[in-house]
Amino acid sequence: MERVQQMKESLQMRIDAHRDELHSLSRDIWSRPELACEETHAHDRLVRFFTEEDQAWKVQSHYKLPTAFRASWGPVGGGDDEKGEPAVNVGFLCEYDALPSIGHACGHNLIAEVGAAAAVGLKAALESQTELPVPVKITVLGTPAEEAVGGKIDLINAGAFDDVHLVLMAHPAQQDASFLPTVTIEEVSVKYHGKASHASAYPWEGVNALDAAVLAYNNLSALRQQLKPEWRLHGIIKHGGVKPNIIPAYTELEFYLRTPLLKDLQYLKAKAEACFRAAAVATGCQVEIIYPANSYSNILPNATLSKLYEKNGKALGIQFAEQPASFCGSTDFGNVSFIVPGIHPFFYIGTDVLNHTEDYTKAAGAEKAQLYTLRTAKALAMTAVDVVCSSDLLRQVREDFSLAKLKQET
Ligand SMILES: [Zn+2]
Ligand SMILES: [Zn+2]
Repeated sequence: MERVQQMKESLQMRIDAHRDELHSLSRDIWSRPELACEETHAHDRLVRFFTEEDQAWKVQSHYKLPTAFRASWGPVGGGDDEKGEPAVNVGFLCEYDALPSIGHACGHNLIAEVGAAAAVGLKAALESQTELPVPVKITVLGTPAEEAVGGKIDLINAGAFDDVHLVLMAHPAQQDASFLPTVTIEEVSVKYHGKASHASAYPWEGVNALDAAVLAYNNLSALRQQLKPEWRLHGIIKHGGVKPNIIPAYTELEFYLRTPLLKDLQYLKAKAEACFRAAAVATGCQVEIIYPANSYSNILPNATLSKLYEKNGKALGIQFAEQPASFCGSTDFGNVSFIVPGIHPFFYIGTDVLNHTEDYTKAAGAEKAQLYTLRTAKALAMTAVDVVCSSDLLRQVREDFSLAKLKQET
């Protein structure tokens, strides 16, 4: 039997053999949902999973961030290692943060399971080999806080991806798709400072920060008609004053700005900023415009990885939609995809209910999701096998990455 096929079969067998531990891993994370940056139980549980799976995993808990971890294994297959050939380091990413009040409504417990299963599967495939075109290593990164502050961006900045050459993860959705275009996102917080006064007795003494917030909201609503169809801006008035008989001295808005391409985000930001500043000028308020440290990029496509994932997925019975639904979500994997060649497929978990709903929380913890989750993990690990067993494919993946990056920047 051909080597690649043999490796793919051994990884499927290993994942099936770990079925119960893997289900218990994601179920355990699901049953104790933790918010972004507070995922201590999920962190400890995943660290335990790799420590118990095999002593050969080098597990680093609290890796660069309090609730991030790293588990690495290898290199193996390296006849070439003595010649100084650098090992290909295959990365799998685990997310595990939940949402306020509705738990694992984005199914990140299943992302953790996919990452763990795919890593264990690829390890089994590699263990069966003595010779590979290049030596191979596996690195699993636990990446916290996807739903809030973008843990992957902090990990990029801390150098966690510096020695990783290929990154794979998958996200639960309503359908199977090897790639869905995601959008960039910039969060902006706007604060207006006015002056309080009695709203009936001496309103002329006040400077109305609520008027500034309302004007800003309306400015943005007017701007919306002039935006490209795929661009999005949406927001809330977070603080709108204290009491009707006090001219509001302080108000605060929170807006999200999104564009499909990173290069367009600066234009949307400039337009939105003009709206915020105009409202301050009109009312005489002072304005503060604050951006958080991390903004999320769109995901760079990688045609070779997508094709391989689809081929492997189909062999396992995954049905890919002919016309994948459009998706206007954002993920901090986007930023990773600009640093390392990678893939972030979406996978069906046995239901049409939508992410970020209570029904999705139920689905992410249900037994029914397991078949789809493990099938996805297998397809990811099989894709890694294809790439590490063929220098040509590895070169193509790297070329796709450089080309896609170039295309997005021009
Ligand atoms: Zn989400
Ligand atoms: Zn998510």
